[in-house]
Amino acid sequence: MNVALSAEQEDLRRGVRQIMEERVRPRAEEIDAAGEFPHFVRELFAEHDIFATVAPPEFGGIDGSLLTLAVVCEEITRVCANSGMILGNQSLGTGPIALFGSDEQKAAYLPKLASGEWLCSFALSEPGAGSDAAALQTRARYEGDAWILSGRKNFITQANVADVMTVFARADSGDRGAVTAFLVAREESGWIVERVEHKMGLRGSPTCAVVFDDVRVPASAILGEIGAGLQIALSTLDKGRIMTAALALGIAQGALEVALAYARERAQFGRPIADFQAVQFMLADMETEILAARALVRSAAARYDEGDSDIIKLAAATKLFVTEMVNRVTSTALQVLGGYGYIVEYGAERRVRDARVFAIFEGTNEIQRLVIARELLRGRA
Ligand SMILES: Cc1cc2nc3c(=O)[nH]c(=O)nc-3n(C[C@H](O)[C@H](O)[C@H](O)COP(=O)(O)OP(=O)(O)OC[C@H]3O[C@@H](n4cnc5c(N)ncnc54)[C@H](O)[C@@H]3O)c2cc1C
Repeated sequence: MNVALSAEQEDLRRGVRQIMEERVRPRAEEIDAAGEFPHFVRELFAEHDIFATVAPPEFGGIDGSLLTLAVVCEEITRVCANSGMILGNQSLGTGPIALFGSDEQKAAYLPKLASGEWLCSFALSEPGAGSDAAALQTRARYEGDAWILSGRKNFITQANVADVMTVFARADSGDRGAVTAFLVAREESGWIVERVEHKMGLRGSPTCAVVFDDVRVPASAILGEIGAGLQIALSTLDKGRIMTAALALGIAQGALEVALAYARERAQFGRPIADFQAVQFMLADMETEILAARALVRSAAARYDEGDSDIIKLAAATKLFVTEMVNRVTSTALQVLGGYGYIVEYGAERRVRDARVFAIFEGTNEIQRLVIARELLRGRA
């Protein structure tokens, strides 16, 4: 499926590229080295309406399409993966509200998330529940007219800067133990960030261990219905997996550009290393993988936007292919730079470190293979 971008999408892509080149590229190494959330990027995205790519137009969004979001994600991570995580996580956190929120919940939250006034998080994983998300243990008990949340969440992106969080917990009322999604606003209820993890890559994207110590949320905080939590999480992740692939694609494109520029400049044996066929083959392989990945990401995003009924398998396959591709491409790019690839200031090693986790989060790639095989064996060929 050949997906052409509209004139508006092309304009947006060019605008985001310019912002990233002028305002973020000069500070991308600094964001990685500091290991802290880059507040200036959040302000930049809010100022230029980039968060509007996460919501539908009736709630302050641009066009609400995953294709537009994917194109913008790629442009951002081409320069800075940490910045891409800000938009990616905003999309992931907004997903449950946009897909399953009541009219009141959408009106209360989406415009603030689409403007960047608020940041959000998606809290599914727990110390004992990663791939096996259904094993989560966070509890919600009903007391009086409110729900009381207690438990621990692990690896929650941006929990330390988020204003609102979708929290998946077992509701101990009515349908006992049914996994349910709760919208928790920091202002009203709050949560404790116990620890911000020290990570290999994506060091400017905070990954937090979170504690809910009898956190009180109103009855109106339930998203969808009691017991609909797992369906909400999985539906959100279908979109999230294609968006994650788009983020990975941009990292690969950025790595190729680093390698290409270096291969033209660096001379050995009296000529640029780009003259050596071994180096040319590395560049050619990277470009080929990126072209294939871009075609896959854009067609998957377009099919998601069209409401394709086979999206579960396609989303998993897109995430699997592109996030393994980015690990190959960033590693090859580093190889093109020889010893300098291993030196921080050249930007190749940062991309290797940032890329690694893409085969792990949003469902590990082993889980993607299980999903693809399950759908295939069900007859969804
Ligand atoms: C930087 C970062 C950010 C994250 N952000 C968020 C976030 O914002 N919100 C959130 O909820 N979570 C988040 N996560 C959590 C992430 O989704 C989980 O790490 C991931 O789902 C894997 O869970 P786990 O780490 O517990 O690994 P485990 O599930 O313990 O897996 C360990 C290994 O066993 C394999 N495995 C497990 N089960 C099977 C099986 N049935 N068949 C074959 N192999 C299997 C896995 O593939 C993996 O190789 C984040 C993680 C990281 C590292």
